[in-house]
Amino acid sequence: MGLVQYFRKKHLSFVTLVSWFLLFYIIAALVFWFISLETQNQQMYVYRVSELKRDEPTYYNKVMEAEKARRLKSIQYIGEGSIFLLLILVGAGFVYRATKRQIMVSHQQQNFMMAVTHELKTPIAVTRLNLETMLKRKLEDAQREKLLRNTLQEANRLNELCNNILVSAQLEAGAYRLERQELDISALAQAVADDCITRYPQRTIVTTIPSEIYVDGEQLLLQLLVSNLLENALKYSAKDKPVLLGLAIEGKQVKLTVADEGAGIPDTEKKKIFTKFYRIGSESTRSTKGTGLGLYLCKKIATDHKGSIAVKDNTPQGSIFTVTLQSA
Ligand code: ADP
Repeated sequence: MGLVQYFRKKHLSFVTLVSWFLLFYIIAALVFWFISLETQNQQMYVYRVSELKRDEPTYYNKVMEAEKARRLKSIQYIGEGSIFLLLILVGAGFVYRATKRQIMVSHQQQNFMMAVTHELKTPIAVTRLNLETMLKRKLEDAQREKLLRNTLQEANRLNELCNNILVSAQLEAGAYRLERQELDISALAQAVADDCITRYPQRTIVTTIPSEIYVDGEQLLLQLLVSNLLENALKYSAKDKPVLLGLAIEGKQVKLTVADEGAGIPDTEKKKIFTKFYRIGSESTRSTKGTGLGLYLCKKIATDHKGSIAVKDNTPQGSIFTVTLQSA
């Protein structure tokens, strides 16, 4: 993997180098042409003046005319040259940004493929091992329950991963028909929290959910949104830290917040985390597993519901994700 990353980095440096070289070449050519045309212009002026007869009464006027023509040509060269230079700079900027983005997306896609392969294989391997152990050995009830719980957790992870991938693909292709209906978001949020409480019995999940808050929305998508945020809060904070899920209504707006006391998200990353496949850090330094799809999907679901999602710092540490939706 080190080698792959090395070449990826080199690829970007190579593209950067070539773009800079081309840009400098074009600008140098432009400057060269400007100097040549100006020299020619000057020579034309000297030639014209030398052709005039000094003793003619209109001599002075003609010199002035030649001077004016020379100045006009200079202005024309400077004007055209500047516009050309500006267009080149703007164009180069666009091309460079587009290429850089393209390379980044392809890195992230490759990271995603590696992450997905891992995410698919781990739950399958763990499930298989647990089931084999239960088949081969006579286990105590407590041990058996522990293994079953563990297997269920892995199956749930697999299920969530599949949901995230499928729904992202469907939403993007426009194949997902949003079937909105008046939905009790209080019950939905509580159900997702209860599910997490059973799946992570060792964690503290605190809910502040007033009953009977309604939004217009699609059940499956909103469930996915809340569970992605809760799962992240659990995943990116220490085991002994609590996670808060809150719901509140402010005027016509429903605000759903998920707060954790983890490491938090640096300001420079706050916007990027909502892009597809984006994960903070590099594949080799990351300790947590994931695909970078969760928050992308959360944002897509929120905006498809005419809502929004934002993240801010929690005190003393951690992050608070807030989803704003319209109340029904
Ligand atoms: P994944 O969790 O699969 O990597 P997400 O799209 O859910 O993908 O999140 C993108 C990135 O944002 C994560 O890789 C992580 O670095 C960061 N992140 C998300 N939620 C939190 C959180 N609650 N605390 C700290 N970092 C977070």
